Amino acid sequence: MSAEPLLEETLIKRSQQKKRTSPLNYKARLFVLTKTQLCYYDGRAERRCRKGLIELSRVRCVEIVKNGGEVIPCENKYPFQVVYDSNTLYIFAASHNSRSVWVQSLKKEIKNNMVIVAKFHPQFWQEGAWLCCRQEEKLAVGCEEYNLFGDISRKPLPPIPGQHREERTSGRPPPPPPPGPEEEGEDDEDEEDDNNEQVVIALYDFPGMEPHDLSLVQGGEYVILEKCDVNWYKARNSYGEEGYIPSNYVTEKKLNNLQQFVWYSKHVNRNKAEELLRREDKEGAFLVRDSSSPGAYTVSLYTKSVPGEGGAAIKHYHIKEIEGSIRQFYLAEKHLFNSIPDLIEYHKHNAAGLVARLRYPVRKQDRSAPSTAGFSYAKWEINPSELTFMKELGSGQFGLVRLGKWRAQYKVAIKAIREGAMYEEDFIEEAKVMMKLSHPKLVQLYGMCSQQRPIYIVTELMELGCLLNFLRQRRGSFGLGSLLSICQDVAEGMGHLETHGFIHRDLAARNCLVNDSLVVKVSDFGMARYVLDDQYTTSSGAKFPVKWSPPEVFNFCKYSSKSDVWSYGVLMWEVFTEGRMPFEQSQNHEVVALVTQGHRLYRPKQAPPTMYDIMQLCWHERPEERPSFSQICLMISSALEGDAPP
Ligand code: ADP
Repeated sequence: MSAEPLLEETLIKRSQQKKRTSPLNYKARLFVLTKTQLCYYDGRAERRCRKGLIELSRVRCVEIVKNGGEVIPCENKYPFQVVYDSNTLYIFAASHNSRSVWVQSLKKEIKNNMVIVAKFHPQFWQEGAWLCCRQEEKLAVGCEEYNLFGDISRKPLPPIPGQHREERTSGRPPPPPPPGPEEEGEDDEDEEDDNNEQVVIALYDFPGMEPHDLSLVQGGEYVILEKCDVNWYKARNSYGEEGYIPSNYVTEKKLNNLQQFVWYSKHVNRNKAEELLRREDKEGAFLVRDSSSPGAYTVSLYTKSVPGEGGAAIKHYHIKEIEGSIRQFYLAEKHLFNSIPDLIEYHKHNAAGLVARLRYPVRKQDRSAPSTAGFSYAKWEINPSELTFMKELGSGQFGLVRLGKWRAQYKVAIKAIREGAMYEEDFIEEAKVMMKLSHPKLVQLYGMCSQQRPIYIVTELMELGCLLNFLRQRRGSFGLGSLLSICQDVAEGMGHLETHGFIHRDLAARNCLVNDSLVVKVSDFGMARYVLDDQYTTSSGAKFPVKWSPPEVFNFCKYSSKSDVWSYGVLMWEVFTEGRMPFEQSQNHEVVALVTQGHRLYRPKQAPPTMYDIMQLCWHERPEERPSFSQICLMISSALEGDAPP
């Protein structure tokens, strides 16, 4: 490793943990850039004390920060940002020139990083929101395309067809990102004297797996001591015990974080809300959910009989917000509240214009604990003696997949890699990155047994197997809602890969899996790179997925998130045909000719025109004209909400 400094200069950094804009949060540090790291030191010449270190391989974006007129409370006025993992470090240079040198040098060193973002935020994260797009989630997808080699691109994103008219004109921010770990940047790797402790509430039980873990009890409160990475935090419980916890099992305890309340269901659309409320069939049953307009919330309320109308009914009330110096909320009438929980509390006791009081909170059913990114913090090697093997689940390119258990208790899928099927050494290295990709719509990689042959890959179990068979076996039984929700699941999982700059390379219904809650998750992401089989890897090979590939892939093997978008369009087609083979009558070489001439798959009978529009956008010849997965998610949610124009 070369430790030769490429650049060295005293710059000012903004603390990552502090929310206030106090000058105290801006500290002069000696920054040193080498080929592999960006370090910063407390700049006393006699004894340098390292305060932080960022591995350049983890850096996802380096760019200047556009100042929208905010006062910069330190003497250096030229900000730039270094985004790594889920953190953004703001650094302030003393001159335009100095900033430009740092940004260009950093960009040069990160140019081959796998994790480069597709989009970034050109302005600051400040006081709980992105100044550029007003999104209030720190991990929200960027609002501008990231161009590693140019200045900040001002290119607007393509318009979103089928989008609700009000959404388009209301100036609302883009949709929130696919769910990720809760809140705030992570390890500051820094001295910051943090006296405002972050307290979280456990959403699920977590039985600590290793001695260094801390068990969680649902509803319990914990103090976060360190955000070790995006998936694992070090925490302390009320007895003073400390250890690692999965970040997706907790939510921050603060007033405007709705996740901590039983009545809030994050990913529930209008149809699903109605289904849940009807199933409960209780007077005043209600839930609060995300509206189809991003950033807004809706109360869905059930009453057994509407006065004057009779019969049961479900009403959906938008929680309206009054813009002003302080945020205020109201429901049916103008009773104003400073927070949504206050508003709900009030309407629990007063109908005040609603069809009923909010009497009975209804929860989303699938409150089962999500997968963790590995069984424990920094644990990717699994002891094979802790695995038991059960029935065979299937077989694929790499070998046999079996149902199994880890430590006799946790059901998993175990893939035994056939000798000669995989570039094993490369995969073993990459697996550590893949394990960090954790999302409810991605099949979780738990770890591997890499010290033996065959190596085993251990993943989340998906009881109902691959999506393609699932569609074929149940042909004729799917309603439009189910088909849309399959597409939505896949788009959400792919959105997570896209935000992390990770390319799937072989997205198709055969590479998605279904669990027993009928959730569809994307599997085998990035695995195509480790296949040792020319028939699969060269575009003229018989197993190459030509029918799922855009022209830039079958001609030049040029993969990107936008080539994944093309494949996603074909996957949508597979979903709406309930598992037909695309271009059924054509050989691969004929498909190449057809697609090159501009031919595309036909509209499946079950696909509404709005959905076929999305497919066609995915199949745009020019990759940059195709929508991003976050735009696709938005288009499908508005269709699921039932308010997409015909
Ligand atoms: P490969 O990557 O070797 O091509 P696949 O991942 O396609 O193999 O797996 C082959 C088959 O095994 C799948 O079609 C599916 O039926 C089954 N399978 C794979 N992974 C899982 C899993 N996590 N849970 C349940 N079944 C699985």
